[in-house]
Amino acid sequence: MKSVIVKKPGGYEQLEVVDMNIPKLKEGELLIKVHCAAVNRTDIITREGKVGYLENPILGVEISGVVTEISGKSSFSIGDRVMRLVNGGGYAEFAVMPSDRAIKVPDSLSFDEAAAIPEVFLTAYQTLFWLGKLKKNETVLIHAGASGVGTAAIQLAKHISDAKVIVTAGSKRKLDFCRELGADVLINYKEQSFDEEVLKATNGEGVDLILDFVGADYWNKNLASIKKEGRWVLIGILGGAEVEKVNLLSIMSKCIQFTGTLLTPRSNEYKALLTKEFSENIIPYFENKKIKPIIDTKFSLEDIGKAHLHMEGSHNIGKIIINVCE
Ligand code: NAP
Repeated sequence: MKSVIVKKPGGYEQLEVVDMNIPKLKEGELLIKVHCAAVNRTDIITREGKVGYLENPILGVEISGVVTEISGKSSFSIGDRVMRLVNGGGYAEFAVMPSDRAIKVPDSLSFDEAAAIPEVFLTAYQTLFWLGKLKKNETVLIHAGASGVGTAAIQLAKHISDAKVIVTAGSKRKLDFCRELGADVLINYKEQSFDEEVLKATNGEGVDLILDFVGADYWNKNLASIKKEGRWVLIGILGGAEVEKVNLLSIMSKCIQFTGTLLTPRSNEYKALLTKEFSENIIPYFENKKIKPIIDTKFSLEDIGKAHLHMEGSHNIGKIIINVCE
């Protein structure tokens, strides 16, 4: 099968399409003929050799496709259309998926739309509701609003919690898109000081919840933007991981709940429970088109390098999809 590997840690030119054996199943797994994969930031840092937890030599953590083989008991059948995160191996013609973590693709969605859902919507759902405890009519600050996770989080916060959504992004084009998705307050972080704008939009109180993809660069402004007793969920470190001269008293005096998370190293049980709850609570919103997957561009498997470059340049709004087969 055609598969994408990394020749050696480095830039996008290290990606290569090679021939590999179709993977063998273990008990409780499904073999999927992959129709589409999606690109994620984790693929880029894995390619660069910055994370070591991916065991699979084939890149890619997110796919949609058709079940072609089943090992052990499963609620799925051969021929079912499924989507899900995989433990590596997604940029290939066949991939393995744990049966208890597969999500049935609704009839109304195409394979490319389905591949745009799992990583960003599960992350947004988990961080807004499980970790962030977002309640009805609260205010949430979503950084990188036009990112894959950001576009998912805006829609979930509006449709599930009717929250007031404040977003930051780096261009008018991206902010206009966030408005179309339902964001209420739009801040161009390259032209405006986002903490000042957040305080203006919240009568000086700050937000109940911050979804933070940026980390170190935004530390002080996030502290200024959060309400007393607010929740702050750190999801990404696009702006660095090391914060200089942190005064922990600033967290204590505002009584902030600060939570860091990565979905990949969570336990299988955690991921299975998250998938089950997400499927029950959120998939119906896709079926009735109230919530939609956001696709930026599509590339072929052979153009995987171009797809990585597109994400690294922060050009995308929503997801970058790889068409693996028709
Ligand atoms: P994405 O679609 O590639 O979007 C990321 C956007 O962030 C960029 O387009 C850019 O938009 C903005 N950005 C980049 N560098 C920035 C910086 N230094 N300061 C401010 N904004 C910056 O990314 P994604 O797939 O949605 O992922 C978003 C983040 O969540 C990534 O860091 C990813 O690793 C993380 N993530 C974490 C988990 C988890 O479990 N913790 C799961 C999924 C994703 P602008 O043009 O607006 O600057």
